[in-house]
Amino acid sequence: MKGPRKQINGVRKKVSRWVMESHIGRELDSDEIVHHIDEDPTNNNIENLVLMTISEHRRHHMTGDRNPFFGEKHTEEFKKWLSESRKGAKNHRYGKKHSEETKQKMREARLKRTIYKDSKGRFCREEDAI
Ligand SMILES: [Zn+2]
Repeated sequence: MKGPRKQINGVRKKVSRWVMESHIGRELDSDEIVHHIDEDPTNNNIENLVLMTISEHRRHHMTGDRNPFFGEKHTEEFKKWLSESRKGAKNHRYGKKHSEETKQKMREARLKRTIYKDSKGRFCREEDAI
């Protein structure tokens, strides 16, 4: 996860690492990662940061969809979105639109059945057919 970087004493690293290091009072190991709880890499408040090992961090991001691009929060959002869109498929407006289409098809089918050719070969309604 890319986040803003800051140069302090000639060392350039993620702001989240600086914040965590000053919080715990030591430098982070190379296998330690600072995770952003709200998945916002620009939110570097200490309350938003969790220190994890690289493997813990990977496991954390692999939960849910087992998709490394979905964090837990995103997965929840994705699930919510999915259930909302499922509801949408069943919602009244959607159903009405669909049944309008069906009605139109039925109307057309009925029309075709009742269209005849008159004696001159022109199309006409049943009542005009000879
Ligand atoms: Zn993370």
